[in-house]
Amino acid sequence: MPKTDGEITTIEHDDKEYKKNSSDIKINNNTSGNYNNDNNNTNKENNSNRNKSAVVTSALPYANGEIHIGHIASTYLPADIFTRFCRLTGRDIYHVCASDDFGTPVLIRAEKENKIPAEYVDLWNKRDYDDFKSFGISFDFFYKTSSKENIEFVQYVFKRLYENGYIYEQDVIQFYCQYDDKYLPDRYVIGKCPNCAAENQYSDLCEKCGKVPDQILDPKCAICNRPPIKKSSKHYFFKLSNFSLQLKEWLNSNTNLQQDIRNYVINWIDDGLEDWDITRDLSWGVPIPMPDAKGKVFYGWFDNHLCYISTLNTLIQEQHEKVQDKERQNQKQQQRQNQNSSSKSETETYKAAERQQQNYDIDVGKKYWNNSEIYHFIGKDIVYHHYLFLPAMRMGINEEYKLPDYIPTRGHLMLQNQKISKSRNWYIGLRDFASDFNPDYLRFYIASIAPYSQTDVNFDWDVFFEKINNELIANIGNFINRTLYFVQKTFDSRVPKTSSDYDLDDRSSISEIEKIADEVSGLIYKNEFDRALKRILKFATHFNQYFQKKQPWNNQATANTTLFIAVNAVRSLAIMLEPFIPMSSEKVWSQLGFDNNNNDDNNNGDNSGSSSSSSIHKQQWASASEIKIQPGHILGKVEPIFRKIQTKDIQLQKAKLGKQEEKQQQQQGQKHPQQKKQ
Ligand SMILES: [Zn+2]
Ligand SMILES: [Zn+2]
Repeated sequence: MPKTDGEITTIEHDDKEYKKNSSDIKINNNTSGNYNNDNNNTNKENNSNRNKSAVVTSALPYANGEIHIGHIASTYLPADIFTRFCRLTGRDIYHVCASDDFGTPVLIRAEKENKIPAEYVDLWNKRDYDDFKSFGISFDFFYKTSSKENIEFVQYVFKRLYENGYIYEQDVIQFYCQYDDKYLPDRYVIGKCPNCAAENQYSDLCEKCGKVPDQILDPKCAICNRPPIKKSSKHYFFKLSNFSLQLKEWLNSNTNLQQDIRNYVINWIDDGLEDWDITRDLSWGVPIPMPDAKGKVFYGWFDNHLCYISTLNTLIQEQHEKVQDKERQNQKQQQRQNQNSSSKSETETYKAAERQQQNYDIDVGKKYWNNSEIYHFIGKDIVYHHYLFLPAMRMGINEEYKLPDYIPTRGHLMLQNQKISKSRNWYIGLRDFASDFNPDYLRFYIASIAPYSQTDVNFDWDVFFEKINNELIANIGNFINRTLYFVQKTFDSRVPKTSSDYDLDDRSSISEIEKIADEVSGLIYKNEFDRALKRILKFATHFNQYFQKKQPWNNQATANTTLFIAVNAVRSLAIMLEPFIPMSSEKVWSQLGFDNNNNDDNNNGDNSGSSSSSSIHKQQWASASEIKIQPGHILGKVEPIFRKIQTKDIQLQKAKLGKQEEKQQQQQGQKHPQQKKQ
């Protein structure tokens, strides 16, 4: 197995590390075309795709452990920022994900806890989904690899690959425990690491030195601790090597992929690809649909990325059915009305319903997939799987489902400059974080430090403290608060009338609003969320200075205009912050008075009508550059949006790291997030 800059690309992942990770999108530049210096032709080309529908997938979390900040940083947050942004631009987009239910680590964990695997993974599926949700990760659908739809789809893909001649059988010598009467794949074998001599290490990963042992010493069965024998077993192999040329062509032609990753994946191909053993002698997994493959299932990496497709298919199919049902109902109603007037026969009604049934399209998901731009957000530890296995398997079924357009890939998150490790309790679970801080703080901090690259980034509690208190609260929060409070106090919550003679500062502030939406979107399209956030901070800084300079508390004559402009800037901020800190921006929106009855939105020109269209999550991105709030608009109840972090909060967090017992007790108690703190 090729290695990435000194790191091991393990096939079977350890739940202690990231299963999944990462990254982003690299759409080139923006609609304004004036912010960055990218090549113009590229911009035009890419811009034309921005109205196209899109499918965003996040790498699947293993259903055997809690989601921690590392997962969020590399994969789910970038995917969510991008998806939320696209929704605001009006793009048709779905973000799908699923729990990765199969694989030996999951099975072993379930056995340890005396649970049936299916029940065990369901618990994690639900818990993961809840954790994601509490951090505002807004999946359109979070499903599971053990779903009946995925199992059927995986077996279908295998059959197609088999028919196309890309599968062959071969005997493999495997560890076998005579006492337990089973083959012992991967981590069912423990022993002494040949590299560092650590005892009790898995045969597929030494936790001490992080290497994959070639030949584990003193092998023992992980279940009964007896030495296993070696026995031959028939396995199925996927001819990955057949696709070398085609993969290289694709990698060279897809210029959306990150250049450095593309280069080293091409190096792997040049070094020669090995065919891929896709069989495991296990009971828990997608059964191999062959008559003589009893007791064998697919290796997890054969089925899990197919779940991106099967999940999207299931979602689209369900929606399609809903639309069909609705149409059928309408039709029936129509018929009833017609019957009353002209008494149509039962047969006619039946025929009409049958005609409707024929509109049912089983390929509706496939069409959607193939007409969309496909984004797979991942972490750098699963590059091999996403840049080689995944495209090769799609090529092997004649690209019935198109290859990815983007595979935004990001580095790992370190914690206080050390590798995140659950076994050493050097990690922060999402639940723990949410019980101590506003989840938006994590989103803001991570988004502001993580670049669009494979570089590892470091979560540092002191930097977190500084960023949240000085940037989010003292800059953004302060401007929002002082503006809204001022209007509440001085103008009885009514946005004042503006005078028409703007001075230089007013004009430059209006122009700041007018250009901001394009500038920020240009950076988001390039997947540079850290820079986008910086640009938004600069916007807030501008307006803090504006407010300070105009001193509305001393200048009655100009206070009206100052506050009129400032309130509109708050509105712009709320919209632009939605992808980054959705829960807080919702609060700002409500304080701006957009979710109460005092303002018929339409009076502000925002999407009029239903309450859902007045939600911050349904606004138009471009309108962040418009002056939408008119004089007379009434604000909602104004309160501080954020609460400052205290030094002692940070000391507490630092003290928690690495402490073994406490964390385990907490986990056993299945702590739930308490009320979110500000
Ligand atoms: Zn070792
Ligand atoms: Zn045994």
